Amino acid sequence: MIVAEQKPFEEIKSLIGSAKKVLVVGCGTCVTVCFAGGSREAAILATSLRMASKLDGDPKEVTDVTVQRQCEWEYLDTIAEQVGEAEILLSLGCGIGVQAIAEHFPKTWVVPGLNTSFLGLPSEQGVWVERCAACGDCILGLTAGVCPIARCSKSLLNGPCGGSQEGHCEVNAEIPCGWQLIYDRLTSLGKTELLYEVRPPKNWRTSRDGGPRKIVRPDLRLSEEE
Ligand code: SF4
Ligand code: SF4
Repeated sequence: MIVAEQKPFEEIKSLIGSAKKVLVVGCGTCVTVCFAGGSREAAILATSLRMASKLDGDPKEVTDVTVQRQCEWEYLDTIAEQVGEAEILLSLGCGIGVQAIAEHFPKTWVVPGLNTSFLGLPSEQGVWVERCAACGDCILGLTAGVCPIARCSKSLLNGPCGGSQEGHCEVNAEIPCGWQLIYDRLTSLGKTELLYEVRPPKNWRTSRDGGPRKIVRPDLRLSEEE
């Protein structure tokens, strides 16, 4: 899932600035699961903003609403009326949600309430860890299901680098060496021979290096007549 965390409250206040009518928009999918921008967080933030604005002597009308997914037009359509009444939207969606709102409501000023961090999973209560860098050309089939792009600090395709200490990364001793994890899993699955295969440089055009990406599925598109 997409993992995000809330921006510092003072930054959020400054993004809202002098606007009087604020609509906080939560998202019911990834950011709900990571407790950053779901209905609960939207309601708490709206209350905090109302109280803070009163204490600052500049009371604001702050309401909140949460849609199932900010990244799909049909869910955004359900809040069109509330959006039309607001002076500013504070999106608690990921960066995609913020941009979807901006694109769908071109006359509305929208600001982000979250910092979108990475694609990851909850490893334990209150801890999320990165697992995928969305490189667009997955090589997990060669690396025992452990991603060297996201989990090796140097994103090495041919590792390890030789600097790991007792299974931990030389760049950050708090994280396990991604290549140690790959080695351990290949060993336990009896596939260490894969370590001897030298992988050529990756074509990073499928990643961000080729510019903004797009996937087109002709089989899913409506014909021009439709
Ligand atoms: S190889 Fe690429 S697509 Fe596969 S998990 Fe790693 S970053 Fe994600
Ligand atoms: S120590 Fe391991 S995770 Fe860290 S950069 Fe080297 S190979 Fe990658």
